[in-house]
Amino acid sequence: GNAIYLESQRRRESNARTYPRKIPIAITEARGIQVKDADGRTYYDCLAGAGTLALGHNHPVVIEAMKDVLTTGLPLHTLDLTTPVKESFVDELFDILPTEFVKNARIQFCGPTGADAVEAAMKLVKTATGRSGMMSFHGGYHGMTSGALSLTGNLGPKRHVGGLLPGTQFLPYPYDYRCPFGIGGEHGHQIGSRYIEHLLDDPESGVLSPAGMIMELVQGEGGVIPAPHAWAREIRRMTKEREIPLIIDEVQSGIGRTGRMFAFEHGGIIPDVIVISKAIGGGLPLSVIVYREELDKWEPGAHAGTFRGNQLAMAAGTATLRIIREERLVEHAAVVGERLCKHLEQTKSAVRCIGEVRGRGLMIGVEIVDIEREADRIGSYPAHTELAREIQQQCLKRGLILELGGRHGSVVRFLPPLNVTEQEIDRIAEIFHESVMAAER
Ligand code: PMP
Repeated sequence: GNAIYLESQRRRESNARTYPRKIPIAITEARGIQVKDADGRTYYDCLAGAGTLALGHNHPVVIEAMKDVLTTGLPLHTLDLTTPVKESFVDELFDILPTEFVKNARIQFCGPTGADAVEAAMKLVKTATGRSGMMSFHGGYHGMTSGALSLTGNLGPKRHVGGLLPGTQFLPYPYDYRCPFGIGGEHGHQIGSRYIEHLLDDPESGVLSPAGMIMELVQGEGGVIPAPHAWAREIRRMTKEREIPLIIDEVQSGIGRTGRMFAFEHGGIIPDVIVISKAIGGGLPLSVIVYREELDKWEPGAHAGTFRGNQLAMAAGTATLRIIREERLVEHAAVVGERLCKHLEQTKSAVRCIGEVRGRGLMIGVEIVDIEREADRIGSYPAHTELAREIQQQCLKRGLILELGGRHGSVVRFLPPLNVTEQEIDRIAEIFHESVMAAER
């Protein structure tokens, strides 16, 4: 059972990995939202590959699409030579992008991971503008390669790594529950955006004209923090006026996750560069950037890499996008996401340790707090990391896999597949409720 695998892992797996420590099970079978461990226990998988599995595990249409590539003589690997598989993938992807963006858009295949695409986006805007500085946001997450890590606004993973990219300026991101200035709300967002605009124009700030700005419209790893629409529009306005390319990282929030195809659609903004990965490969590694044609100033060969455009991943991704369209799963994610939030709000009113329930679509976070300690000026309580961990363990015991996030690891994150049913949502909420009750005692 699990014990055999866990013992072997304990001896061999690097310290740097965290999932197997927090979720000590070995998964031997998976279908849809359900996974089974080596002891035969089943779980609802609300981690779903950190949001990668938009259709859950082993969706039959996705499996068929991959089998097609493997059994019909289609090439498996072509570097970035064109193939029919690649052609269909790009067609499907361009179909889901906003018309006014896609009219003059280019695509660059980046390699297997989200971090690869972030690196490419950075290189693109630096090449196009001839400038070098970058701006990103407190609490943001963009990946673990040196450049992406430099842009990541979380000290943990970089504390012991010297020599990251110089010239990165971090900007305040609106996090109402834990606003460091105790303001929050619309007034706080206005002060935040005015401060950013001031930085852009004040020669003394030393950050005039960065090569680009990168942001998530719902911070995922940072603790499921949606950016207010008006604030996001302000950021778009000020970057556009100053011709600073705005890179929107949709690695986690993209492809229907937030109840719109892309998170930037909520606020009605159009980015200059969109970073896409995770769900776009249908569970296989794939990442791309899509960007405004005018930025396409790099020379042929300027961005190479052997594993750009994995054919199997493109086939799986195309199938995933088709199912999402045919089954109207983006709208579905919005509806069931709201249902889950309602349940979670009920749990919040029945217990004491939930500070906030927030999110968009099926990207939902629950802030676990310590009400025994003093609240801040706006009535928010300190993060309760240990209790969040205990809730995660109680959920696991009852058959629900959830991940934690946020700057203090105190936000419980729900990222179920987009095709999760209402009945499954109800059951997940029930297990979560029981687990919080048990953990709080
Ligand atoms: N950007 C965002 C918003 C992410 O959530 C992640 C991964 N969690 C990344 C980039 C990096 O992707 P990868 O882990 O595939 O490098």
